[in-house]
Amino acid sequence: MRKIWWTWDIRMRWAPGFSSTRESFVANYRRAIDAAGKYGVEGIVIWGFLRDRHGGIDAAREVVEYARHKGIAVLPGVGIDDYGGVYYQGDSPYSLDTYIRAHPEAQARNEDGTPQVHRWPPTDTDARLKACPSDERVVEFYCTSLAWLVETFGLEGFQIEQGDSGVCFCERCRARDRRIMTLDHDDKPRISLEDAAVRIPAVVEAVLPQRGDCTIITETYSGLLPRQIEQMAPFVEKYPDDFYISWQLYDGVGRFKVDDESRSPSPHGCAALRTNNDRSGGEVDDRENIGRALDLSRKAGLDMTYIYGEYADDRAVTRGNYDAWSEGAGGGSNR
Ligand SMILES: [Zn+2]
Repeated sequence: MRKIWWTWDIRMRWAPGFSSTRESFVANYRRAIDAAGKYGVEGIVIWGFLRDRHGGIDAAREVVEYARHKGIAVLPGVGIDDYGGVYYQGDSPYSLDTYIRAHPEAQARNEDGTPQVHRWPPTDTDARLKACPSDERVVEFYCTSLAWLVETFGLEGFQIEQGDSGVCFCERCRARDRRIMTLDHDDKPRISLEDAAVRIPAVVEAVLPQRGDCTIITETYSGLLPRQIEQMAPFVEKYPDDFYISWQLYDGVGRFKVDDESRSPSPHGCAALRTNNDRSGGEVDDRENIGRALDLSRKAGLDMTYIYGEYADDRAVTRGNYDAWSEGAGGGSNR
């Protein structure tokens, strides 16, 4: 299986400072990149790739170039309607916040009609503005900004998501027949499946009709249990065959959302292993479950996996988890 590390900039613990400055951001990713090769990691997803407070474009370029020199791809997180667009936070024409401030009619609405924002990770200093998925004009902005991102950094791929922080309740969105998904930990309407499956391919196909070896990972936020596949299958069909459809099939200690009957509904799929980081309560020896999740993922036909790469491997427990994950995923990649 291809192996990827998945990270939020401000949760990185490879160097001090949680990427709050340029020095901290660059040091965190340089150290992660230095270690990545040991585990066969070929790419690192970075959410919060571009932020003014950690050096914006210049610092991001420094990280990408260092990674390239070490044979590792940087895969920025790209938000559609959420997560800041391509420029997570800052004074940039490619930031979704900037677009929405200039086009307030494009902002998503809460149930009470107030404008919708999203602050994540919870340790972030401020919230991002969210766009309404019924707004068609913002799609042109996504295309322009994704083209800029790929060109500016010579990217070999990216992860792209439409968001899992709640659906829009504007009149246009309410009037549509939406298939809404909740997450396991509460019953809030988090995700509109069609919005992701229509908008993400539309943007990517417009910007990169010929994708070659470009690696595109897109998130379902769903597990891979048969009932979940049944729910997702009509939407997964809308994605191009070369996309890696990501399944959150292992969600922290002992919580499997994959079983012997699980089968990937797409040619390429990524097993997202969500353990051993701040979200799951910190460092934990989870080697056995990691191995089991990967066995089931391979049986299901998935050919990629990611695990959080936010903790430094000078900690013995974390190193053990990375080793178990790397071995469980098998050697090399299928590129
Ligand atoms: Zn709306």
